[in-house]
Amino acid sequence: MLVTRRLPDGILEAALSALPGVVLDVWQEDVPPPRSVLLERAAGAAAIVPMPSEQLDAPLLERCTALEVVATMGVGYDNVDVAALTRLGIPLGNTPGVVTNATADLAFALVLTVARRICEARAYVADGSWRSWHPSLLLGRELAGATFGVVGLGRIGRAVARRALGFDMVVLGTSRTGAPVPGVEVVDLPELLARSDVVSLHVPLGEATRHLIGEAELAAMRPGAILVNTARGAVVDAAALARALASGHLGGAGLDVTDPEPIRPDDPLLSIETCVVLPHVGSATVETRAAMAARVGENVAAGLAGRRLPYCVNPEVYGPAPPA
Ligand code: NAP
Repeated sequence: MLVTRRLPDGILEAALSALPGVVLDVWQEDVPPPRSVLLERAAGAAAIVPMPSEQLDAPLLERCTALEVVATMGVGYDNVDVAALTRLGIPLGNTPGVVTNATADLAFALVLTVARRICEARAYVADGSWRSWHPSLLLGRELAGATFGVVGLGRIGRAVARRALGFDMVVLGTSRTGAPVPGVEVVDLPELLARSDVVSLHVPLGEATRHLIGEAELAAMRPGAILVNTARGAVVDAAALARALASGHLGGAGLDVTDPEPIRPDDPLLSIETCVVLPHVGSATVETRAAMAARVGENVAAGLAGRRLPYCVNPEVYGPAPPA
């Protein structure tokens, strides 16, 4: 069984204790295994546990002749060719739900950081510039009464909406299904962009959402608005975002995810003072990472025992659902 990073101590082992024959092949480095290593070590594995940084594409998966289950360490699975896995009859597990609060907290931390210029203020103190209190020093934006737009009212989007309501904001959201969310006005994307002072992205990355926020959508945002992305980097056209920030049309951006990851050191977004970039730490709390590892363990244990995965992305591999 190939695990492409060290997980919190003992959690995976505990989940697999009922399957004594399983040998763990854990990549020990903190950077992803090179493609050649991934190809070689995945080829004979009965289970693969990838991180969001590992691309499991069709050519790789087709070489994995012993594969019985893939259990990704995250709720997003844009790094896995799900169609190829399904064609091969292999279930894919993910970790929904347990990442919701940590990621929603981080999204709101980015909102506050950008709106209240926390990074600039910290640098101002650290470089010795602080001389006195001044009425116009580092003025930010008030959240109470401002309009907050949630793109994608799923688990994390709804949790972020609740946080915005707690800050006395007016909350809008997009939803293809239109399911009601207490306190949230469901609108379409153009209306959300036109009315929101802060826009926060919570859709999965797929063909329909790649560059969902591009040049035209950024131009349609309110002057001075803030964009926060804790979904996936490629949901936003990064070059267009850099232009919208550099021109001053947007007031700021908070990005936990970038395209590519890691962001290149010469990316223009890194030199824009109103842009805060974090290294994909949305789910990075001690509690959440332990819960994610436990969910990975549950998925792997079920897959290797020939049972249905408790958190399965492609249940089609089990055939048609029984009649209700
Ligand atoms: P979720 O519950 O599945 O919510 C995603 C929402 O996006 C759904 O409510 C769906 O709403 C909407 N959506 C799906 N496909 C869409 C499409 N093609 N166009 C427009 N809207 C679409 O997922 P979640 O648990 O909230 O996670 C959301 C994403 O956050 C994940 O996919 C992952 O990429 C990202 N994430 C990032 C971190 C991090 O560390 N930064 C951590 C966890 C998750 P409707 O069906 O109602 O339209």
